[in-house]
Amino acid sequence: MGTKGREIIGLDVDQLISELNKAFADEWLAYYQYWIGAKVVKGPMKENLITELIEHATDELRHADMVANRILQLGGTPVLKPEGWYQYSNCGYDPPQDEYVKTILQQNIKGEQCAIDVYKKILDFTKDKDMITYNMALQILEDEVEHEEDLQSLQEDLELMISRK
Ligand code: FE
Ligand code: FE
Ligand code: MG
Repeated sequence: MGTKGREIIGLDVDQLISELNKAFADEWLAYYQYWIGAKVVKGPMKENLITELIEHATDELRHADMVANRILQLGGTPVLKPEGWYQYSNCGYDPPQDEYVKTILQQNIKGEQCAIDVYKKILDFTKDKDMITYNMALQILEDEVEHEEDLQSLQEDLELMISRK
């Protein structure tokens, strides 16, 4: 990256790149988990859920793009092999083997809660030290908080529908 751009960063850049690569791996796994979940999901209200899952998949891919660009700008290399997604991920991957709406919702809520922790940590690490990464992580965190809320609200509607029948 540009020498002055690096100079203004008041933290260990290699450690930051490593944290960003873990988040980058998480985003790809989250993208695929949503994308394949939208394909296989079955059960009541599945059309509403599919719309949300596809939207979130698109957001996660955009997050991967944002994080990769920042890694490159910092002079790092984004994880190059899909095997690396598993190796570096904080949040892991839950295959939607049980395709029932409630199970898929639970798996993705768990993923979002993990993502919220990941970006909170990056925010704490970069606060007052790297404004560019801080600002990026804040934008992503806003999306992840919205994702969690969208899914929990669908979960609530689903519970109400099932219990009032
Ligand atoms: Fe994300
Ligand atoms: Fe998300
Ligand atoms: Mg949404």
